[in-house]
Amino acid sequence: MAEKSFHLEIVTPRRIVYNAPAVSFSAPGTIGGFQVLYNHAPLVSSLRVGDVKVIEQDGKEIHYATSGGFVEVRDNRVTLLAETAERSDEIDVARAQAAHDRAAKRLSKGESDVDVERARAALARALNRLRISEVQ
Ligand code: ATP
Repeated sequence: MAEKSFHLEIVTPRRIVYNAPAVSFSAPGTIGGFQVLYNHAPLVSSLRVGDVKVIEQDGKEIHYATSGGFVEVRDNRVTLLAETAERSDEIDVARAQAAHDRAAKRLSKGESDVDVERARAALARALNRLRISEVQ
């Protein structure tokens, strides 16, 4: 028997990333990771940089690198408004490596004109993309 599903929509400012049924949605909430299954209680959560995992009705698992956003769960509808969301096999590894190296270099120089918070955030996004690009 098919597992009970809910409707999932993942949207970024640039595109609709996902718009279909799913049986499981796991996300990096700012106060801890969480999983949504069929009939989950209503929820609103902000997200941090991390891995969004979706399990589809046929059991296929999809991973997305996200750099944050907001999730709403209500009436078996899950909506993720994400700043960015790239499927693991869409990640440009060379680009993420270059972003990583740029941010690491800025942080290691320790110069006063470096925006440390911005460089740290860029480093976290790049490390996350590199990690998720390796997930099948
Ligand atoms: P970069 O310095 O390489 O632009 P970034 O972390 O500053 O990296 P973001 O601002 O998070 O980039 O994303 C800008 C857009 O580029 C988003 O649409 C995001 O999905 C896409 N993007 C960023 N890095 C990658 C990557 N390595 N592979 C695929 N898409 C990427």
